Amino acid sequence: MGETLTISNLGYPRIGSNREWKKALEAHWAGKLEEAALVKELARIRQEQLALQKDKGIDLIPVNDFTYYDHMLDMAVMFGIVPERFGYTSGRVPLSTYFAMARGSSEAPACEMTKWFNTNYHYIVPEIGEQTPSLTENKPLEAYRFAKERAGIDGMPVVVGLYTFLKLSKGFGEKELGPKVEQFLPVYVQMLKELEQDGVAWVQIDEPVLVMDMSDADIELVTRIYQEIAQAVPSLSIMLQTYFEAIDRYEQVVQLPVQGIGLDFVHDSGANLQAIAKHGFPQDKRLGVGLIDGRNIWRADLDSKLELVNTLAQSVPYARMVLQPSCSLLHVPVSTQAEEKLDPVIREALAFANEKLDELKLLGSALREPAAAAGELEASRNSLARFRALPQRNRQDVASQQAQWAQQRDQRGLAFAERQPLQQEKWQLPQLPTTTIGSFPQTKEVRQARLRWRRGEWDQHEYESFMQEQIAACMRLQEELGLDVLVHGEFERTDMVEFFGEKLDGFVFTQNGWVQSYGSRCVKPPVIYGDVAFREPMTVKESVYAKSLTAKPVKGMLTGPITILCWSFVRDDQSREQVTNQIALALREEVAALEEAGIEMIQVDEPALREGFPLKERDREPYLDWATRAFRIATSSVKDTTQIHTHMCYCEFHDILHAIRALDADVISIETSRSHGELIDKLDGEGYDNGIGLGVYDIHSPRVPDVTEMAAIIEQALQVLDPALFWINPDCGLKTRGIAETKAALANMVEAARQARGTLQTVSV
Ligand code: GLN
Ligand code: ZN
Repeated sequence: MGETLTISNLGYPRIGSNREWKKALEAHWAGKLEEAALVKELARIRQEQLALQKDKGIDLIPVNDFTYYDHMLDMAVMFGIVPERFGYTSGRVPLSTYFAMARGSSEAPACEMTKWFNTNYHYIVPEIGEQTPSLTENKPLEAYRFAKERAGIDGMPVVVGLYTFLKLSKGFGEKELGPKVEQFLPVYVQMLKELEQDGVAWVQIDEPVLVMDMSDADIELVTRIYQEIAQAVPSLSIMLQTYFEAIDRYEQVVQLPVQGIGLDFVHDSGANLQAIAKHGFPQDKRLGVGLIDGRNIWRADLDSKLELVNTLAQSVPYARMVLQPSCSLLHVPVSTQAEEKLDPVIREALAFANEKLDELKLLGSALREPAAAAGELEASRNSLARFRALPQRNRQDVASQQAQWAQQRDQRGLAFAERQPLQQEKWQLPQLPTTTIGSFPQTKEVRQARLRWRRGEWDQHEYESFMQEQIAACMRLQEELGLDVLVHGEFERTDMVEFFGEKLDGFVFTQNGWVQSYGSRCVKPPVIYGDVAFREPMTVKESVYAKSLTAKPVKGMLTGPITILCWSFVRDDQSREQVTNQIALALREEVAALEEAGIEMIQVDEPALREGFPLKERDREPYLDWATRAFRIATSSVKDTTQIHTHMCYCEFHDILHAIRALDADVISIETSRSHGELIDKLDGEGYDNGIGLGVYDIHSPRVPDVTEMAAIIEQALQVLDPALFWINPDCGLKTRGIAETKAALANMVEAARQARGTLQTVSV
């Protein structure tokens, strides 16, 4: 780094400006692109990304942020950490094994995948059993050499810190962490030594775990790691990078023997800045100033960013500052360039990865030679001012509703124990009622129909009659199967958040705003840019039609406020809580519209409740408080006899059971195939007093479990749960399944329920 202020990037999106990366990988997996051709294509994409960052004038360009699937998997494979079931012995791990670990193979199930901190990115969880680590290849070194040869870049290798790597791995207990550190350190150090020998100047070591709750013992272990590294590679400069939150242990972390500390000044609630003001910053280190939001898609308020840098300059000279995004740009789309269809005011307010790099560059110029940057700063200021002034962002009606938020009723008229008998009387459901989670298989015809209608090839009438046929067939199927509570099937929905985003005020959709969710899977989240408000009923028509075809109860189907929030890009001038509240009030109107139209069983899905969990322990209860209240605001205004359902899946439930209770839904259907043992134990200990359906089969597999298998799960659950409150359902929606397997599995489920009822009766006689 030179004498003046430096600009760096922490990581660039992998997927390519038109998702070329995804397409190449998927072609390879489908057997349409050979390994050599894949390697060549990915190298081409990578070279382009490097050249682009160089063109943008980034001083320190990250390398090894690119991957063939996931950066945690890369680390595991580099150290030869391959679970036994993949038949690996030694040496460089073949690409086919690498992909098998990520995706599973006919012989071995895939490694587990889980959320990367509080983002929507998912990493492959390394399974560290008895294997001894060894350096089977040096990925960062290869990436460094590649950038030098192909793009003339003296890059900065990015590696996951050893502490973070081990903390996020599984296969050993908390007590073994220390010994694992000792076991891995020599290999890790060897990797760094080879970088040093090759002339690498700076390495970025990512230790995001440092922003979580850290005990004294944790800090000791981290210190041990970095002391060892400092001794082993004295001429390598290390930027110890943290992100996603403030570091609590500021005083200890800044004393670690490294040459730079990177901090997040966007998602830290001001705590990092306060710590620097209070304790100062070491004279011998660089400060990584994470000041452009790497988690969101909005243009930055550059004036306030400059102010922040100037405030920091009271403690750190400009020459020792490294301006950077708050985290890797992996979490934002590539470029706003393709967004031709958006309102220009909104488009101009967006900044994806490329635009964020431009912003960093501009901030750098503004600090180095203010006069030269004035024009561009002014332009940015104006774009932001136009966006902020949009009437859709400043609605009086929404504001006045919000002002009454605290007074809004958030409780049902009667407590569950009192309304439950009334519901029982109204609905006359059999014991252990059977139902599904909402969606039914989305066949090719269904997807084609939606596409035709979107493209204008079908008019509204054609489209609606097609949807009615689908609903009718779905109702017939459910009647034939003998299910007790029916659903309309969700054929009109591509995605459970997008569907509502399109019908509510305050949302827009990008054309090319893709981000990596895991591996080659990309998502295009809706954008909440304005005040969210109800326009007109969104789901009533389909539900009412479904109900007209059957004498059985039909559940209306909505997506909950937290899930809509978590799976969207959210405006950053309001708190997440405020935005959630707006969504909740809009959904409350939909709930009322459904009830009014005679749909008196309504399911509000909240699969993302646990995803919104803050990283720090102390922030979790406050979050759960407002999140569950938002759900209750959306659902509690109904009659006592109206039955509110909710659904959750694929997360750890055991630590949020109290929040699930706080939703006060009449019935929750919950995924159990993945978290079975733990959840049942927890329910056994604490009980659950409202209606609950534990998923009796995994919908992620085409396998059809037989009656005995499901009956066993039901039996196990009934040892813990009250049969009078127990429901029987699959783990999640059926939209990704085929029709034949769905029919077979549901038939078995209904039969398993029948048998379980029989058993209950004999016992009670
Ligand atoms: N009702 C939704 C469905 O069945 C729920 C999806 C989900 O939980 N992710 O598809
Ligand atoms: Zn689900």
